[in-house]
Amino acid sequence: MQHIGIFGGTFDPVHWGHLLVAQTALSQVPLKKVIWVPSLNPPHKKTVVWQNRWEMLQLATKENPAFTVSPVETKRSGISYAINTLIDLSSCYADTHWYWIVGLDTFKTLPRWYRGHELVLMCDWLIAPRLLGGETIAESELICKQVEQQFQGQSLTIDWQLLNIPLVEISSSLIRKLCHDSQSIRYLVPESVRSYIITHNLYSVDTSHP
Ligand code: ATP
Repeated sequence: MQHIGIFGGTFDPVHWGHLLVAQTALSQVPLKKVIWVPSLNPPHKKTVVWQNRWEMLQLATKENPAFTVSPVETKRSGISYAINTLIDLSSCYADTHWYWIVGLDTFKTLPRWYRGHELVLMCDWLIAPRLLGGETIAESELICKQVEQQFQGQSLTIDWQLLNIPLVEISSSLIRKLCHDSQSIRYLVPESVRSYIITHNLYSVDTSHP
């Protein structure tokens, strides 16, 4: 049986925080590979066009042979739900144990995901600490347990583990804001991604709100 991670997101744009999370999952589980899945029509966010996000992900991940970027979400119309992504990927990879990689801020919303009760049974959850709600690092585990309890209330067992990773307070919205304000994003994103953003004049209009 092979162990593969899925890292879904808008990646608008991909930044060093994402890359560190994916690499940590690779090392700490360990995984055979991480499949990055840029969301086509995310339920809660407006994004720049998919093609730009796809190109930036290609640039950011190309040096790591254990990273793959998947166009799986372009094969479906409508809103891009995680459950459909996992079903579609499962049909391409036989005999696989799946891990969904996620930041703590996103994991907290899992009980409200479309068909989330099915999704939690189909994969394990690798959670990167991320404290956007003013919590402390010590509270990360407690927050995960609260999510676990919500599923236990529906007689569902969720397998999760917190990744051991330093907090990196980079977000795509920060990068979009800096670009809009004509500030430098050097060292927040890979250099190839920075060049792409400049060349294509992305984020010059205000899209800093997630
Ligand atoms: P935005 O600022 O637009 O909301 P984002 O930085 O959260 O974007 P996404 O592409 O939405 O980026 O995130 C994809 C996944 O990566 C989510 O599960 C998110 O929680 C996680 N993530 C993003 N940045 C970090 C970070 N710095 N540390 C830990 N997890 C992160």
